[in-house]
Amino acid sequence: MIKHLIIGGGVGGVLTAVYLQKKLGVPSRNLRILDPHPTLLARWYANIQACGMKYLRSSSSHVLDTDFRSLRRFAAHSKRFDETDFTPPYRRPSVRLFQAHTESIMQQNTSAELHIGGSAQSMSRSSKGTLIVETDAGMLEAENLILSPGAGDQPFRPAWADSAPEIQHIYDPGFSVELECTTRRGSIGAAQHACLLVRGYGAKVTIIARHEPTMSVFDFNPCYVGPSCLPAFLSTNDYGRRRTILKQERYPGTLPPDVYAEIQALRKSGSISWVRGEVSRVEQNHRREDQGCSAQNALQTTAYITPSQADRKAQPEMQVVCDELRLATGFTTNWTGNQFMRHITLEHNAPCEVSGVPIPDTTLEWVSKVFLVGRAAELEVGPPAGNIIGMHNAAKRICGKIAR
Ligand SMILES: Cc1cc2nc3c(=O)[nH]c(=O)nc-3n(C[C@H](O)[C@H](O)[C@H](O)COP(=O)(O)OP(=O)(O)OC[C@H]3O[C@@H](n4cnc5c(N)ncnc54)[C@H](O)[C@@H]3O)c2cc1C
Repeated sequence: MIKHLIIGGGVGGVLTAVYLQKKLGVPSRNLRILDPHPTLLARWYANIQACGMKYLRSSSSHVLDTDFRSLRRFAAHSKRFDETDFTPPYRRPSVRLFQAHTESIMQQNTSAELHIGGSAQSMSRSSKGTLIVETDAGMLEAENLILSPGAGDQPFRPAWADSAPEIQHIYDPGFSVELECTTRRGSIGAAQHACLLVRGYGAKVTIIARHEPTMSVFDFNPCYVGPSCLPAFLSTNDYGRRRTILKQERYPGTLPPDVYAEIQALRKSGSISWVRGEVSRVEQNHRREDQGCSAQNALQTTAYITPSQADRKAQPEMQVVCDELRLATGFTTNWTGNQFMRHITLEHNAPCEVSGVPIPDTTLEWVSKVFLVGRAAELEVGPPAGNIIGMHNAAKRICGKIAR
């Protein structure tokens, strides 16, 4: 039997394992992480690579270790890293530094050995009170379950894209960033991905977004990390009200200062165009053969765009014709898309808000001996729940309960 079984080997799952090992002294033999990918953190690294991120958005204190100074110390002791591996504000680390540091922490904690390949399908309780988890790789028995399913493998696909299954989402499994054709490009969303296409492929990119680029250091209001705002959030037992606060205090689609500056420079140079509006439908046509593209890329896409309210008077509808249209429309946050989460909700009567978002208790226990980490715990952890710092707060709360 496994004492602590973590479901999901992304940032939340790996960080929680490190907390259990370092803060509670849980030996490796009592801990396992179930995840369907070949290695832990595979989904997170694939997503980072797909969007072309160079520096993390979070500070160099937000690391996959219990010690907030550990990445800076690691960089100082390694000849491979220097000041170019940090960028302001808050000395945000480069992706390569963050990855090297994480690998070293995982090595120290033998994290790779904790990994069991597979996906949890259902759970039942034995007569002894242990948890029996059916997975696609067999049955596992555990004393405690920690669910950290994330949304990393549920990219959001808008309804208009259903008519064109060839359109890829940059967070689709197996997505390849490479461009083949040399003519005009189109892309929707994701400023970082657009910069990557310009930098790496000399592409011309059109970004279709609802609003002008907006700069924000964080993608949530950082006052919710600690005592400035979190107590007020937790003081209401109206979970609908908490959902409203979550919506107001998260800033999706905003850009950190370095990406904002790069986008504005590339707009000035003409490599990137920014169209304000919303795609309503797309059409795909075969392109002329003389444009040097393989059969695979023989389709040209026309996106029909309803301009944002302010521009609608001047132009009721716009069209963007592109060689390739890519979705960078984030992730779905609907937990019913995750089979195991749906199972726990329905078969174990786990409490949820009307929108289907889990309601754990203050220790993040959702149903007896089943705990939540990451975005799934947002109604207790607040706006930072899906970010590294929110996962630190979640792991601390769970350690507090398990240690008792
Ligand atoms: C491009 C990008 C950049 C980001 N940059 C930052 C940043 O700089 N700083 C920051 O703080 N945050 C950042 N974030 C936000 C956040 O840290 C990431 O989204 C992170 O991946 C969330 O981790 P997670 O463990 O919750 O989820 P995921 O990374 O989605 O991992 C969850 C894992 O659980 C697995 N899983 C799901 N269901 C099951 C099941 N039934 N059985 C077994 N396994 C299952 C999934 O396959 C997946 O591997 C970024 C996000 C993205 C997409």
